[in-house]
Amino acid sequence: MAGFDDLRESLETRKSDHLYRTRRVISSAQTPQQTVSGRKVLSFCSNDYLGLANHPDVKNAFISAVEEYGVGSGASHLVNGHSELHHQLELALAEFTGRDRAVLFSTGYMANLGAISALVSKGDTVIEDRWNHASLIDAGLNSGASFKRYQHNDMASLERQLTSAGSGRKLIVADGVFSMDGDLAPLNEVSLLAEEYNAYLMVDDAHGLGTLGETGAGVAEHFGLDQDKLPVLMGTLGKAFGTFGAFVAGSEEVVETLIQHARTYIYTTALPPAVAAATLASLNIVRNERSRREHLTQLIRRFKSGVDAIGFCLMSSETAIQPIVIGSESLVLEISRKLESRGLLITAIRPPTVPKGTSRLRVTLSASHTLQQLDVLLTALSDIYNELSANQKAELTCELSPNRR
Ligand SMILES: *Cc1c(COP(=O)(O)O)cnc(C)c1O
Repeated sequence: MAGFDDLRESLETRKSDHLYRTRRVISSAQTPQQTVSGRKVLSFCSNDYLGLANHPDVKNAFISAVEEYGVGSGASHLVNGHSELHHQLELALAEFTGRDRAVLFSTGYMANLGAISALVSKGDTVIEDRWNHASLIDAGLNSGASFKRYQHNDMASLERQLTSAGSGRKLIVADGVFSMDGDLAPLNEVSLLAEEYNAYLMVDDAHGLGTLGETGAGVAEHFGLDQDKLPVLMGTLGKAFGTFGAFVAGSEEVVETLIQHARTYIYTTALPPAVAAATLASLNIVRNERSRREHLTQLIRRFKSGVDAIGFCLMSSETAIQPIVIGSESLVLEISRKLESRGLLITAIRPPTVPKGTSRLRVTLSASHTLQQLDVLLTALSDIYNELSANQKAELTCELSPNRR
């Protein structure tokens, strides 16, 4: 074993399959103009949808809180790491989402693992959309409950799984906005089925929170789903909120169950209190600066009509996540490298994150992009499309079967 030859072999296979991933080193703030390996680029792959990660109010709130509270929280929430700032943020998030209570988690991944394991166990059934985020899939598989998946956004398929579930507790889990595709779950219909079959409903709103709904309160607000209709609402703070961490909001019983039983809540250090202070500042901006969402909507419209005119295929998304479907792993890498050589940073998303043959450029738009920056991207995409050979154009995939995973 000493030489790790088997590990080297499997890494080499990953390379020859065009699936090897590498990290870029960023030496500037999370803004559209970034410095990557010493070079200035224009980035379209951040989840900082509202441009808050580098906002002066958010930075100042963070810095002032560090002056008062220091950096580390020192312990888990149930020992002595639960600060006044964490507490204020939980109250504010509960009010913002229209729920009785909210509880903070250190990451979205941990929130999903902890919540699902605390809400269901052996004898219960968890039913998930096939396209759910990896953290939700892992959470379902690890929960001890019977794990079922339904075809993406397919209510007949969901109903079949509900009908065949055992007699224990049933938990339906879906992304609000699907992270690699950008489309929404039909949550009104999902919640009606949940009610009909006496199942709990949990939604992960990592990408809707801040960007959707009149006040930015996400898919729950967008679809008008109150706590009764959508009892377990999970949101992340590292995306549109521009900070870090996550929360689950719901009734007293749901939230207190997580505090008592979610192992990823109990056995981990609380977020730095300054992250909570910074998040309170970004929550203020999310609520009050509707113009950020309006500008984002304008960018999305312009991007979609621009790409349609070029000939590349988009997915049916109205959100800030606008993947361009390419198909093969090698072609998506080639296009992403061409974009990079023109100073544009867009990540190529490949298996296993998405199914084989559906590799894509995951373009994400942010309220911090200008219309001019968007036009730079559209011009580059048009040039690159025109440089493709006839064979490469024929190879581009447009139709994606909804049941491809
Ligand atoms: C990003 C993301 C997560 C994980 O959140 P982190 O705070 O980054 O761990 C969970 N679910 C979805 C849908 C996500 O996009």
